[in-house]
Amino acid sequence: MERLQKVIAQSGITSRRKAEELIVEGKVYVNGKRVTELGTKVDPQIDKVEVNGVPLEREEPVYFMLYKPTGVISSVSDEHNRKVVTDFIPTDQRIYPIGRLDYDTSGLLLLTNDGDFANLLTHPKHKIYKTYIAKVEGMPLREDIKKLEKGIILEDGKTAPARVKVIRSDKRKETSIVEISIHEGRNRQVRRMFEAIGHPVMKLKREQYGFLQLKGLNAGEFRELKPHEVKKMR
Ligand code: URA
Repeated sequence: MERLQKVIAQSGITSRRKAEELIVEGKVYVNGKRVTELGTKVDPQIDKVEVNGVPLEREEPVYFMLYKPTGVISSVSDEHNRKVVTDFIPTDQRIYPIGRLDYDTSGLLLLTNDGDFANLLTHPKHKIYKTYIAKVEGMPLREDIKKLEKGIILEDGKTAPARVKVIRSDKRKETSIVEISIHEGRNRQVRRMFEAIGHPVMKLKREQYGFLQLKGLNAGEFRELKPHEVKKMR
């Protein structure tokens, strides 16, 4: 037996939080009876759950890691028919990306049909670090790096402390490779942080999400997460 809101979230139609709201609002029926109690337990294989009058089709939760190439949208569809991240993963499950990488950013992207898992990973309170390798213009000074480490003021507020390491600088080309780890997920955050210290990003790749690493995949390739990896991320 499992909690009703969990069963709804795992069907992929919404998050657990939203499922709770639907239950309280009286939009959920179990075996033909309206249920408004959040604690209600159901057997997902036996009980018939309906949300807004639509029977729940239970999907097995699935979890993928994709090496997103550049030039791909972090979405499940695109009105201009551009390539989207779900095009790379042949599955009948209704998966979607957990967070986003910019069109021009490559690297590690997680996809799932498990609304709870997605919520958990993106909730700010969990402070999951994501590590990026950025090729930037110029050679940031120690004091610039310190600013990023301490937190820098952007138009949507000060960033949380980051871990930053200059891997190498190319004096002739006037570029540097910098590793940066942040636990926030604001829109174009890494690009804006480097912009703010006067070293715009030329290329950006996400290498790590929590303890998960991209190692072993080439651009456009994906793999399923192992059950122990999913467990450890929770
Ligand atoms: N920060 C960015 O600027 N872009 C991304 O895609 C991810 C983090």
